[in-house]
Amino acid sequence: MKNKIFNFLFTLFILSTFSFCSPSSAEYIKNRGRIHGTYYLVTYQQPQGEDLQNKIESRMREFEQSLSTFEPNSVISRINKNDASVLTDHYFETMYKMAQQVSEKTDGAFDITVAPLVNAWGFGFGNRSRKDTPDVEAMLQYTGYEKIRLENHRLIKDDSRIMLDASAIAKGYSSDIVAQLLEENGCKNYMVEIGGEVRCKGVNPKGEKWKIGINKPVDDATNTQSEIEAVVAISNVGLATSGNYRQFYYRGDKKYSHTIDPRTGYPVNHSLLSATVIAPTCMQADAYATAFMVLGKDKALEVCGSVPDMECFLIYADDKGNNQIVYTKGFEKYLLKIK
Ligand code: ADP
Ligand code: MG
Repeated sequence: MKNKIFNFLFTLFILSTFSFCSPSSAEYIKNRGRIHGTYYLVTYQQPQGEDLQNKIESRMREFEQSLSTFEPNSVISRINKNDASVLTDHYFETMYKMAQQVSEKTDGAFDITVAPLVNAWGFGFGNRSRKDTPDVEAMLQYTGYEKIRLENHRLIKDDSRIMLDASAIAKGYSSDIVAQLLEENGCKNYMVEIGGEVRCKGVNPKGEKWKIGINKPVDDATNTQSEIEAVVAISNVGLATSGNYRQFYYRGDKKYSHTIDPRTGYPVNHSLLSATVIAPTCMQADAYATAFMVLGKDKALEVCGSVPDMECFLIYADDKGNNQIVYTKGFEKYLLKIK
């Protein structure tokens, strides 16, 4: 009898040790591919070692059916076409809430009604020529976050020419959505990266915080060069970077970037070269990173300081054209090294 009890307890001990050990010893899985017109990389530890790539991709495609302006039948595209039958879904409404909040905080530097301007300057879904200067004054009449509202799952516009562009917030939000899917599947350690926008939790395969490089803002329309300016170590946060060094074109010797100041209607052109933001969600980080590019260095630092749990790292050109960096006090704890 004693022996039996001992055997039973021993088996229980082995089982519990085994089940305790197995989650932490599961191999990390890496999935990569293309989505939202860019690439994605998801690294995670799933307790049963399940490869979640199909689930991840179908969740991202579901997301595009709501927020991609490149999907003709997405919720946002139907809103842009003034389809009277379209109802907003959870993805749209979550994006909308954050977008409007950031617009208010930044005095309209961030604005999803910027779509007609983005298209007119040749960056958006409209595929317009980049040869002529658009009629900015006319377009400003139907640009402005205060000209739209959400009522009973319908987007109400003050002017039917208003169109929305969620590109500056969608990649970040999509990273959060994939993170949520990983959570639903029992993952405690993961990093999701979609086109440079990161959401991560727990530890990397070495048992450390996740390490992310912040690129030097070197003009590179081919998107093939990358030199690192600094490295951060993060966990349980979202990180996003916006810059004007990859999406731009020249007409004569004037540079036109894909970030538009919705208040003037013109592409942003000042000394701030890139803005990296760390916030509780990647959606928030993404929206503010774009807003900061519009606001410029000083205003960006001021706004960042007024939002709790948010830090930023900015790279700008000084009077002599040399790159300089500046960051909020709270960013220091993430910085591993600066080149
Ligand atoms: P990236 O990560 O590629 O640098 P961003 O997150 O900065 O991109 O988003 C840039 C895109 O957002 C532009 O291509 C345009 O579609 C849209 N956009 C441009 N200016 C604004 C703005 N002021 N507010 C909101 N969206 C903008
Ligand atoms: Mg952005």
